[in-house]
Amino acid sequence: MTRKEKKDLRVLALFTSVYCQAHHEGERTSPVFAGMDLSRFTLCAECQEFLEYAFSRRIKCPLDPKPDCKGCHIHCYRPGHREKVREIMRFSGKRLIMRGRLDLLWHYFF
Ligand SMILES: [Zn+2]
Repeated sequence: MTRKEKKDLRVLALFTSVYCQAHHEGERTSPVFAGMDLSRFTLCAECQEFLEYAFSRRIKCPLDPKPDCKGCHIHCYRPGHREKVREIMRFSGKRLIMRGRLDLLWHYFF
């Protein structure tokens, strides 16, 4: 993985964990992906599954350079996934005033 990919994944994990902690009850575990240290994030089972899927989509994008997802002709996400990403970004973005990182995510996922 490139540094940029790792950074994207870490930001995605952060946003998902903020959303999960505000919305979901129950047991949480840290995501595990490609040997990265994601131990400071905790997610419920549903969000784990979501994050894994989002990670795999990001890593497997066949286009180089990667375009904005909104301008892409492939539309590799499964139905409902984009809406969920958007909901998580909107919610967590408000909670985390992180202008630069938010811009990065808008670039990648919309
Ligand atoms: Zn959750």
